Amino acid sequence: ELKKEGKTRFDLGRELFIKRVWQWKKKYGDIILEQLKKIGASCDWSRTRFTLDKEYVKAVETAFLHYYKKGWIYRGKRVVNWCPRCRTSLSDLEIEYKEEKGKLWYIKYKIKNQKSKTKNFITVATTRPETMLGDTAVAVNPNDKRYKNLVGRHPPTTQVILPLAKREIPIIADKLVDPKFGTGAVKITPAHDLTDYEISLRHNLPIIQVINEQAKTTKEAPLPYQGMRVLEARKKVVEDLKRADLIEKVEAYSHQVPHCYRCQTTIELIPSEQWFLKMGGLAKMAQ
Ligand SMILES: [Zn+2]
Repeated sequence: ELKKEGKTRFDLGRELFIKRVWQWKKKYGDIILEQLKKIGASCDWSRTRFTLDKEYVKAVETAFLHYYKKGWIYRGKRVVNWCPRCRTSLSDLEIEYKEEKGKLWYIKYKIKNQKSKTKNFITVATTRPETMLGDTAVAVNPNDKRYKNLVGRHPPTTQVILPLAKREIPIIADKLVDPKFGTGAVKITPAHDLTDYEISLRHNLPIIQVINEQAKTTKEAPLPYQGMRVLEARKKVVEDLKRADLIEKVEAYSHQVPHCYRCQTTIELIPSEQWFLKMGGLAKMAQ
């Protein structure tokens, strides 16, 4: 509703926003309850509660405080689905995937201290070249024979020079890498991809957040790429890679792109401060 008026909840501020929520609830709340009755839900409707009812809020606060005092509630960074317009995280169920015709860029990362004259580069394929600014590794499948001579030692000894950012990052082996995708070598961007995030935890890779809550590049990106919208950054990254002759080829590529179910904005994956509840103690009580 706010979008129709060209506003966001940040234009309203907290007080006015809550007022609007109540207006909405008055208008639609009863319809939702009537629909539930129609589809046959048999509940004690005299005890209906809305999430902003005083008693309900009090119950949530009490439970939160109870867990907090026990030390079971904590905050931590986690990569979440994020809508840059609603500025909120979304669960996997709140995302709609749409097929989009994109591109697959094959980018050459220079291998450090490589003696061979023919294979000085490892090539990774990506649909989102701008995220390479936050890469902290290149990964291959441990069973991929093509890369056998580059991995397998602990800690990883082969380093590549990340183009544009000019940082050194390791080549690692992880079973989550699909050898059939692109060249079988993939870039690992823990801050902006869920699989990469999982891989980064296993290999103790740093997390470099180059895209923020407004879908703009951050100060952790190299200077020439800071403060840009994602698509602007993509354009500049591709141009600069081309100029440096680091793009091997570009292929047309259709893939599923996640969108916000409320406003259809393209979802970004970003690390966000979230509340967590330790389940250990609760699980014991349930046994
Ligand atoms: Zn949205």
